[in-house]
Amino acid sequence: MRSVSEAVELLQRLIRFNTVNPPGDERACQEDLAAHMEAAGFECELLGRTPERPNLIARLDGEEPGPTLCLLSHTDTVLATPSEWARDPWSGDLHDGFVWGRGALDMKSQTAAEAAAACGLSREGWRPARGTLLLIAVVDEETGGADGARWITETHPDKVRCDYLVNEGGGGIIEYGGRRVYCLGCAEKGVFRFAVHTDGAAAHASMPRLGDNALLKLAPLLERFGARQPSYRLTAEPRAFLETIGALKPGADDAAAALAKVADTEPRLVPLVEPMLGVSLSPTRAFASEKINVIPSQARLAVDCRVPAGLGEDAALEAIHEVLGAPDGAYRLEWTEQVIGNRSPIDSPMADFIRGWIAGQDPDAVCAPVVLPGFTDSRTFRDAFPECSAYGFFPHRHRTRFETDPLIHGADERIDVRDLEFATGFYRDLTLALLG
Ligand SMILES: [Zn+2]
Repeated sequence: MRSVSEAVELLQRLIRFNTVNPPGDERACQEDLAAHMEAAGFECELLGRTPERPNLIARLDGEEPGPTLCLLSHTDTVLATPSEWARDPWSGDLHDGFVWGRGALDMKSQTAAEAAAACGLSREGWRPARGTLLLIAVVDEETGGADGARWITETHPDKVRCDYLVNEGGGGIIEYGGRRVYCLGCAEKGVFRFAVHTDGAAAHASMPRLGDNALLKLAPLLERFGARQPSYRLTAEPRAFLETIGALKPGADDAAAALAKVADTEPRLVPLVEPMLGVSLSPTRAFASEKINVIPSQARLAVDCRVPAGLGEDAALEAIHEVLGAPDGAYRLEWTEQVIGNRSPIDSPMADFIRGWIAGQDPDAVCAPVVLPGFTDSRTFRDAFPECSAYGFFPHRHRTRFETDPLIHGADERIDVRDLEFATGFYRDLTLALLG
């Protein structure tokens, strides 16, 4: 039996620290990782808004000035309900070729692969020919990064500024028309959450005609959300994705026809691809009367709305009016959250390296840009450092996204050891390519 690799051993250790956020409590996990990096020759700092939740910055400087490459990850996780799992979520068990536990995909696996690659190079005596290698493991990603990526980029920008960044949000594979497609995370959608309000008049619920029930006025609006999504808007990344997989002819514009082709070829891909094609609207919560015997004078529907990278309130509003019709007194709109999505170029030295690396490892496969429907810490780093090219890439070779996506934030999260090692090789080669 061959011995366990550094990445596997590290991942098992990281999983055994319970870092469910909230509260996160990542300190012990971060200290363990810092000790590992320090022993390999990295200069480490633990910096946090609170002592319980420090962010780790590990650096290895080259002889000459040059670019900074940041290997980013987060070490907090979402919760896990042990009764729903086949194995203890914090066991870090190695079983049947998989490492099991919360964080095995999202994303202590990437932390372990990045750290194993970086430490391996450093222990061999390698140093950047020019520039700096940073390994940053932040806390608090799962609840928005107020103590993590946002805090560290605002409070210590000079310690974490970088030119190239690799993070979660890509690298998974899909199969399409008999070909393997590696997803390169280039962009993240914005969040434009809003509430739809309707107004009426309160009365005793026992005499319905005395009031004007605001809740009933929500019903037709709710139905309109069920009937359709806004029209598609083909931005640069979904266009390139659809062209790369062969669902859209170069220069063509018909996103709906391309999606129909995807549905014919690989129906499992439709829910993954459709959110890339424009604004999405999902009503998630409704509120009306506080009391069961009072006809509500006000009702409110909360809607989660995601907008393509770079687009803002105007695009969201256009989509809302398209689905609901112009307000015309039938409803009022209130914005509750606005975050503009951002992107890195589809073509850049780092993106070119990634495509070339995949071509070398898996010659029959292609690498296609994708847009994340949600967002990661990459969004924060792109905002803080506009010159930084940031990509989501943790390459999996053996397990497809059809197998791994349902395990993320779900039960029985686990990673194929061969994929963990494939990704470790990628981070090593990426570091050598960009820093020499
Ligand atoms: Zn994550």
